[in-house]
Formats: sequence, structure tokens, C-alpha cells
Amino acid sequence: MEFDLNKKHCFYFNEISQIPRGSRNEKAVSDYVVEFAKKHGYSYLQDDMFNVIVEKPASVGYEDSEPIILQAHMDMVCEKNKDIEHDFESDPLQLYVDEEGWLHAKGTTLGADDGMGVAYMLAILDDKSLEHPALQCVFTVMEEIGLLGAINLKKEYFHGKRYINLDSGSEDATSVTSSGGARVIVSRKLRYQPCTKPVYSIKIRGLKGGHSAGKIHMELGNAIILASRVANKLIENFDDIELVDFNGGMKFNAIPREADLSFASNVKLEDLQACAKTIIDQIKDELKYSDEGFDAMIEIAESSQRSLDPEQSRSIIEFMNVIPNGLQHHSMAIPGLSVASLNAGVIYIKDDILFLDDLIRSALPSHGDIMINQLKILSRVFCFDFEVNDRYYGWDYSKDSKLREILRSVLKEKGIEMKESSTHGGLECGIFKGMIPDLDIITYAPNSYGEHTPDEKLDLASFDRTYENLVEVLKRCK
Ligand SMILES: [Zn+2]
Repeated sequence: MEFDLNKKHCFYFNEISQIPRGSRNEKAVSDYVVEFAKKHGYSYLQDDMFNVIVEKPASVGYEDSEPIILQAHMDMVCEKNKDIEHDFESDPLQLYVDEEGWLHAKGTTLGADDGMGVAYMLAILDDKSLEHPALQCVFTVMEEIGLLGAINLKKEYFHGKRYINLDSGSEDATSVTSSGGARVIVSRKLRYQPCTKPVYSIKIRGLKGGHSAGKIHMELGNAIILASRVANKLIENFDDIELVDFNGGMKFNAIPREADLSFASNVKLEDLQACAKTIIDQIKDELKYSDEGFDAMIEIAESSQRSLDPEQSRSIIEFMNVIPNGLQHHSMAIPGLSVASLNAGVIYIKDDILFLDDLIRSALPSHGDIMINQLKILSRVFCFDFEVNDRYYGWDYSKDSKLREILRSVLKEKGIEMKESSTHGGLECGIFKGMIPDLDIITYAPNSYGEHTPDEKLDLASFDRTYENLVEVLKRCK
């Protein structure tokens, strides 16, 4: 299998691979698409974030058919092997094909995610012989850093009720649902007092952690929540506990594996440890089948000039003990699928303010509303400030989809039984669904492997077949 630049989708994949296009660096590739649209006489829109929408009119006989929105993101994740010299700001990707017919980039991510979708749209726009309804080809930016480009789109731009996302699925599978997200930041201004007592710290260690979309249903321990539980046990038993510091988690979308909570107290270390042991043993028992490496210890820590008084300390720890966390709902339509969850991802103190960064995911907006509301009410009761950022909607599973049936029939004729895949993660599909509630959605993409790593590769034979299938789907959308 060679990478045949006479095929339009290969030609355009090669073209965009010459243009550096990491997230937040999409202007050049965006301008390339604009120049392409101008050259072909298509009307287009380029917004202030460099998202581009190119309009291709319906082919003859399709003038009355419902338009179709095609969509892919232009940005790519920039990862490289240590031993490779590559500047993602200026260097083109070094494409090559291996003996098995997979396309790679030498030592770097390939950007098949989602260059394959971008190349498909350019190929379709470039081919006047194709039959299809009016097309709106949407090229988004900053997908990889929180779907930010898609969030910036306006519903007024779109006139279609049918949408094909070219960023998810594989040659024989289409996605049927994704979750929305919202980042909730709760914070509380701290009032310190001088500290004269010895300082101890609760250390939570040995947890597995993992991505908060893919792993939230696995009953994994959350280090921040568990540290709060141990601290609460101490506060219940000793009335002089004064919070000094609280630090846990690395990323809002990862289940935190470690946390350190330090406090001052005149209680002897042995008594603190004996009291904490009862709750630590209970947690070990709870996690013995899901997170068996869990351990917690109480140790002497560095002394501190200041601490929070016992009342403030109690209030903060109690807040952390009552906030909802983890899986809230799973799908009753798709076995095993998480559809609503919270992840208390990061906690830290900065400039005398305690921050908790919590990520909420939900396929249904109303589930998201419930969780946001719970955190909002508890924040008010416990004197925390509350803020919701970067909210985007999910795509709830719908039993009926005409587009899905068209794809199913196209694949069936090729002898492929179409699979349906689902994720608790976020897709740009959800944002389009939020803008256009009665949107019919499918996702379709060729087989690729190792996305977001230098091992990323694209199956060229699948790249060809999937393109043919996509063109056939468009033809049947009369
Ligand atoms: Zn992608």
C-alpha cells in the first residue's frame, strides 16, 4: 500500500501535514482552508478563533434535500519521542508508510486525529462529480484542549439538521452518545491565625487514578475525598484540629491518586494514628477489589507559622465530606455506560484561597444541572464561592437515527455489521446537539491507532474504503 497523492483525500492529508497545527496554532491551516474555499469559489466564514465553515451547494437533483453538516477539527496533539528533533511550531510532519500499509509520522504524532476528517472534507469539496445535498464543512480549532473552537460556534451559522462528525468511530463503527462537561471551581477565602501547635500530615497514596471519563465507573478511590474523610474522623474526635494545607490531584479530568492534608494539633501522634486507623481500615476494606494499593498514613510534618482556626477547618472538611463525587448515573439503554459523574480533580491553596477544581460530565443536560446545583447549594451553605466554566452539552443516546440507518446499510452491502460505540467523554457532537436539539448525528472515521502518541498511525487501506463509504452515505442522503 502506498500513500498515493493522486487520491484527493491522500493529497490533502499530505498538504495539511506540511502545516504545523498544534492546538492554539491553527491560524495557518485555517487560512489554508480559506484560500482553498476562495480558489474553488465557495462561500465561507472564518470566525475570530479561526474556525472555518465552507459551503458547497447541493449537486443536481439534491436541491430539495436537507443539508448536511460535515465536521472535523484542524488542531492536533503535539507529542514526540525524546530522541527526535522536531519543532511543532515550524516543522512539517515527516510522513512515511510501513510494510503493513500504515501511515506514520517519523517520531511524532501523525495528526490523523483529526487530519483524516479535514482531508476528507477538502477532498469532497474538491470533487465536483460527487452527488450530495448542500454541505456545510466545518473545520474547528482547539478540540484537543477542551472543544473550545466548537464551543465558540453560533447556531445561526447552520441550516442543516443532519451532521456527520469525522473524528470518532472507526471504519465499521459509529458513536451514538457522548457526555457534556462543565468545570466547577469552588473556592474559599481563608483567614489564618498564628500557629503554635505541632503539625501533622495525612498522606493518601497508592491509588490507581485514571481518566475521569473512562474510569469513573470503576469504584476507584479519590485521594482528595479520602483525605477529607480521614480528616473528618479526627475532627469528630478531637476539637483542636487546625487545617494548615491541603493539596491533591494533578488535573481536573483525572481521578486524583495522591493527596496531602496537613493540620496542627496538640493531640499526640499515637492517638491521632489510632483514631485514623479505624477509618483507614474501613476504606481499605471498601477498596479491596477496586483499588487494592490504597494506603494512608499520618506523619509528623514541618511546623507552620499559621493555621486556620478549628471552626473554619471543620467547615472546609465537612464541605469536602458532603459534596457528591464519582459516578451518579449509568445508561439504561447501553449496558455499562456512565452518563453522569463528578470528579473532584484538584485541590490546592493559592494566595490564601482554597480552590477545588471539579469536572462534571453528563449526557443529559438535566443531569448536569442537578450536579451543578448540588455543588452550588453546598457552596452557599459552607461559605464557598462558586463558578462554572467551559460548559458544553452532551449528546444523549437516541434510538432512532436515519443517518445511522443509512450508514448501516452502506456497510452491510460491504459485508460489515456496523457497531455502535459510546463514550462518557466529550465530543464536539454534543456541542452541535446543544445548538441544534433535533440534530441527527453520526460519527465516521477510518481505522487509526495510538492517537495522542508518537505511535499514532493510520491504516491507508481503511482510509480509502472509509472515504468511499462516506461518499456513498452522502449520495444516499437525498
Ligand atoms: Zn480528535
